[in-house]
Amino acid sequence: MTEVEWSRLKAHELRALADDNPVVIIPIASIEQHGPHLPVMTDTRIGHEVAVRAARKAYADRPTLVTPVVWHGLSEHHMPFGGTLILSHETFRMVLRDLVTSLMRHGFRDILLSNSHGGNIMAMQQICDELAPELPVTLAATTYAYEAAAEIATHLEDQETLQHACEGETSVMMHLEPDLVDTSDLANIGAGREMGFLSAGKASYRWRPFVHQTGTGVSGTPTRATAEKGEAILQASADAIAAMITDPDTWAAPDDRRGAQTGGVPFRPDTVS
Ligand SMILES: [Zn+2]
Repeated sequence: MTEVEWSRLKAHELRALADDNPVVIIPIASIEQHGPHLPVMTDTRIGHEVAVRAARKAYADRPTLVTPVVWHGLSEHHMPFGGTLILSHETFRMVLRDLVTSLMRHGFRDILLSNSHGGNIMAMQQICDELAPELPVTLAATTYAYEAAAEIATHLEDQETLQHACEGETSVMMHLEPDLVDTSDLANIGAGREMGFLSAGKASYRWRPFVHQTGTGVSGTPTRATAEKGEAILQASADAIAAMITDPDTWAAPDDRRGAQTGGVPFRPDTVS
């Protein structure tokens, strides 16, 4: 099987691969509490698996590599439950900036931030906004739970979407790390209230800790989680990310619909003439 994991390749192999203009996935995740039944690495383990499977699936159409997971995420809201290791927003953005810049210096140009933790989404998009006009790379960002939401929903019985330490995440971990899942009391865990601890008004935002959502650290219903569902969710997620990677439109340069007379300024550093 073709090796897709950056950390398992040798430097000269990575130098040679840069010439093929592969996509490089930087998985970003968390180490945070996942209820009484799942390990704190849940998002990191799932994010790694989705990225590696997606890279293998995409490879024939578009070579794709996966860096080690950035496990240090934004999880202040989970801190009250313990077990949670976090970065500040500023550090998180600097870490991603430095990793993207490292890849750029080695000649890689198409970079996908592949996220498996809800708390990272806004910052992930922010780093794209910040770096895109500044660096001669194409940055895309995705969260598997949303990119594959429709397919994932078909495998869930008690939830419509992935939540936290829920039917979906518990199923995936039962497939990947069965020895680390405590299934002794799944029927009595959950369910928390409807996901909405970060909302106000009709469509507005307010920060709150996750203890506002749930007393157990779980949001969703892990009662009917199974390893078979987990495998199906993983495959659906990898398929969706692979489809995004192999879609040429994901990496195409932005259109510039200004007419010749419009003038203005370039929008990317590599378009400066
Ligand atoms: Zn999670």
